[in-house]
Amino acid sequence: MTIYFHEGDLPGDVFAPGPIAVDSETMGLIPGRDRLCLVQLSDGQGDEHLVRFRQGQYDAPVLKRILADPQRIKLYHFARFDLAVIEHYLGVMATPLFCTKIASKLVRTYTDRHGLKDVLRETIGVDISKAQQSSDWGADELTDAQKEYAASDVRYLHRAHVVLAERLAREGRTEMAQACFDFLPWRARLDLGGWAETDIFAHM
Ligand code: MN
Repeated sequence: MTIYFHEGDLPGDVFAPGPIAVDSETMGLIPGRDRLCLVQLSDGQGDEHLVRFRQGQYDAPVLKRILADPQRIKLYHFARFDLAVIEHYLGVMATPLFCTKIASKLVRTYTDRHGLKDVLRETIGVDISKAQQSSDWGADELTDAQKEYAASDVRYLHRAHVVLAERLAREGRTEMAQACFDFLPWRARLDLGGWAETDIFAHM
């Protein structure tokens, strides 16, 4: 179990075949204002790779190719945000995907707690810390605590994906979940286009 830290891009395709867990850290929640600082990836084999971006330096051909690879399913927790910020800064739509937050909302209908910490605790019995969630991801030097936090956000998504996919099948909601995942690129583009706070399906 090693956390690899890279400046600007991955050194090559360092991943085993199969799904890749992806997360991102930014300066805030508004993609047009708050720059992308870090992309975290894991192939579920035990290592995590962190790619850090300096201001304005988003030329990362290896990472972009992997994120945009149609043969690679990307696993996210709240893909809506990651897709928007990755498209805005890296210029690729990082699909196809499975989102553990949407899956959780479709099967864990007995709770409104769909944060990553709650989902991981219930699906695979793992407790992660969220202490570094709000921290300065644009700092020149990230702390070990920040790197560990960033890595832990992708470390368990493969295991959660397996459990949630089983639960979706059990409840007959696999197709509904897939339709939601398939719509997410456009939900992200609506966010980027100025409809972030608007439910365009709502009557009002
Ligand atoms: Mn994160």
